[in-house]
Amino acid sequence: MPMRVTLLEGDGIGPEVVRAAVQAIDATGAAIAWDPRPAGAGAVVTHGAPLPGETLESIRESRLCLKGPLATPIGGGYASVNVALRREFDLYANVRPARTFAGLPARYDNVDLVVVRENTQGEYSGIEHYIDPSRSAAEAISIITRHGCDRIIRFAFDYARANRRPRVTLVHKANILKMTSGLFLETGRDIAKAYPDIAFGDLIVDNTAMQLVRDPSRFDVIVTTNLFGDILSDLTAGLVGGLGLVAGANIGESAAIFEAVHGTAPDIAGRGVANPTAVMLAGAMMLEHMGDSDRAARLQAAVRRVIAAGKDLTPDLGGSGTTARFTERVTAALQRDRPAT
Ligand code: ATP
Repeated sequence: MPMRVTLLEGDGIGPEVVRAAVQAIDATGAAIAWDPRPAGAGAVVTHGAPLPGETLESIRESRLCLKGPLATPIGGGYASVNVALRREFDLYANVRPARTFAGLPARYDNVDLVVVRENTQGEYSGIEHYIDPSRSAAEAISIITRHGCDRIIRFAFDYARANRRPRVTLVHKANILKMTSGLFLETGRDIAKAYPDIAFGDLIVDNTAMQLVRDPSRFDVIVTTNLFGDILSDLTAGLVGGLGLVAGANIGESAAIFEAVHGTAPDIAGRGVANPTAVMLAGAMMLEHMGDSDRAARLQAAVRRVIAAGKDLTPDLGGSGTTARFTERVTAALQRDRPAT
């Protein structure tokens, strides 16, 4: 029986790259019943809301979603749909792997790490206000709970174990933020005792930023709080070639949403030249989450092989290919390796 997956094509280049990813995922032979639903700026026009009820209902039932980038107006208009989805489904774990691509010029050729970011608490708790009517000062409250620390740190250790990754580094700022970041560090040190097979270390966030730039190969799984994770995961994306190549997962108990890390790229939308790699790799993460490690590995390998071969790469990778040509190469590579049934 095919597994239902809610599909949000998103805005800007979203529909182009999501349709390309669907073709690639289908070419693995995975039995998926896609359920396309409206979201983002497009949904405001067609349904009067950026996150219509039918979309939430579909994700609630399918518990799985593949999504393209969604436009969020800066400084006004409706609130971020990405944040709304995280809140609605309590998607507490943001997982972003960063691995070097053979064939692409980058500063390092040996990056292979994963940032696990707490996705619901800290500075992004959404409690922020001006403290006087003339708006001369503002404050935000950063909420960190033991439960919030516990579940994300256990998630990181379980992820390390399941993916045969030998080390977890907890990143914090407990020297200054003694209670909030301190609680995160203390919880991590306790939990680490239950995972004697995984090496554990902790590092202050500013030092982590420097060490990542100097020698990323010393990192494996990084677990950190919301704001630090937001920044460090863009840094690690930069280490392997940029946001156009990196996928992310937002995982909770009741649903999981897989996405490209990049935005809507309005400058190239509709021109057929967007790079679909990030959404394809998000699809591979989704297959893995569904328990289909074999198809996940084949999809990831096919995308990486096509990039390494260097033909029909999209302009952001220095090529003169199109989304369609690149996708044809990936689907052809998948069809070639498809095991006989
Ligand atoms: P948003 O406001 O939605 O974040 P943005 O343009 O500010 O949009 P991105 O969409 O991440 O931010 O784009 C940053 C730059 O990277 C743009 O020049 C864009 O064209 C390029 N880019 C992003 N994603 C891709 C992609 N998948 N393929 C090719 N270029 C991309």
